[in-house]
Amino acid sequence: MTLFTDFGLAQPILKALTAEGYEKPTPIQAQTIPYAMEGRDVCGIAQTGTGKTAAFALPILHRLSENPKPRRAKSPRVLVLSPTRELASQIADSFRTYGRNLRLTTEVVFGGVTISRQEKALANGVDVLVATPGRLIDLIDRRALSLREIEILVLDEADQMLDLGFIHALKRIVTMLPKERQSLFFSATMPKTISTLAESFLRNPAHVAVTPVATTAERVEQSIIFVQTGRKQVLLETLLRDPSIERVLVFTRTKHGADKVVRGLDKAGIVGAAIHGNKSQPQREKALAAFRAGTCRVLVATDIAARGIDVDGVSHVINYDLPNVPESYVHRIGRTARAGATGLAISFCNDEEKAYLKDIEKLTRLKVPVMPLPEGVPAASAVAETSEPRREQSQRNGQPQRGRPAPHARGHGGHGQSRSAEANADKGSQRRRSRGGKPAGNGQPQGGQPSGNQQRPAQGQRPAQGQRPAQAKPAANRSEGRRGDGAQVAWLEKSPRRR
Ligand code: AMP
Repeated sequence: MTLFTDFGLAQPILKALTAEGYEKPTPIQAQTIPYAMEGRDVCGIAQTGTGKTAAFALPILHRLSENPKPRRAKSPRVLVLSPTRELASQIADSFRTYGRNLRLTTEVVFGGVTISRQEKALANGVDVLVATPGRLIDLIDRRALSLREIEILVLDEADQMLDLGFIHALKRIVTMLPKERQSLFFSATMPKTISTLAESFLRNPAHVAVTPVATTAERVEQSIIFVQTGRKQVLLETLLRDPSIERVLVFTRTKHGADKVVRGLDKAGIVGAAIHGNKSQPQREKALAAFRAGTCRVLVATDIAARGIDVDGVSHVINYDLPNVPESYVHRIGRTARAGATGLAISFCNDEEKAYLKDIEKLTRLKVPVMPLPEGVPAASAVAETSEPRREQSQRNGQPQRGRPAPHARGHGGHGQSRSAEANADKGSQRRRSRGGKPAGNGQPQGGQPSGNQQRPAQGQRPAQGQRPAQAKPAANRSEGRRGDGAQVAWLEKSPRRR
């Protein structure tokens, strides 16, 4: 078993890790840290939630501390590029936390806030700069920043960078970096476009990879409620009356939709806040802080805004709207299974969204159990209640429509049908990007499970939701079931909760 002390990290860093309560490295850390400490380039496939921030932050801090240099105005030694402000802030916080016993400084810059304070901070000199690409370029154009002294570059969430249209900014940034540097590149997915981008940043990289996306899906108890659009708000309010829903992230597809949900909650006397791209930075920070502190129980978010939000103790995710990109569904529900916790995800699905549900089930190779509308939420119309697709859906799940526990009740059992998303990825599709990838030389292959249908119980044999035992998720499904990433699962199950 690898321990943090096995890496040869500087004592002040080990001390900070002990203070954080980290006992042993996560699989992405165990794989990445040795290469990164050697000074090698790394190309990593890992999602948020796997511990990848420390996987790059720890070796970077070590290398800086081993080779101290006086700080130079406007010329950081490390540049970390992040697609969103929230993620950038969290990465900077991690550098400060792990580096708190070192004499190194970290600054974060992103758009949406006044640039002058950032210019001033850079003028004073910083060691580590975490930035979103747009603001970084603004600062360079204003001559407030130079990338000439960059020794180490990190490009985090590369797939998200491309989704957000940062490709041109990245191409420009790479031309301004010294050729002699170390580069660490991370992405949750590695389709061709991303690997091509990686090649332009990396030199002879070590490849590391953990946790195909399906693992997240397997850890989260999921259910779907078929409901007409006009009933979604009342359904949400009904569910939120359950006090066991302690801290809930509600996802909408649009910013406007998020605001509308919050206004509805407000009318119903439920405290909620929205977080999306139209909110100012102070508004976002205030909402996140209240959510973290527990004074605001419901945070309504769009996909982009929620990327990288790292809040422990999210008991539920509610998909008010189903995402039209199936990967987003997995990212969303992963918010409620941080650092080894299991969580519950409830999705609302109207008639138009049934096609999205099909895509999601294809990607995750999980059939999402159907839940009836809870008492007090009237079916929208007789037509909706008896519509063919809905009957089909519940029959396919082998589940009766009545007599099951409330959809949000815990302990309604797991899914016996875990599958690798990797094996199922539709490689030709733009929307469904391939997962995982082969880790080179790290001895931890990904995926490689037996073909799904061999293990999948026949439809009729699957227990109805209400009949499943509380711990119905079979051990094999949770650990041994995934060849090659048993270590990952062990960490997920045993790791102490942070903060
Ligand atoms: P990340 O993937 O970097 O967003 O990290 C996910 C969460 O795991 C964060 O809350 C980290 O603080 C936490 N974490 C990272 N490394 C470890 C570790 N070795 N042991 C326990 N928790 C960790």
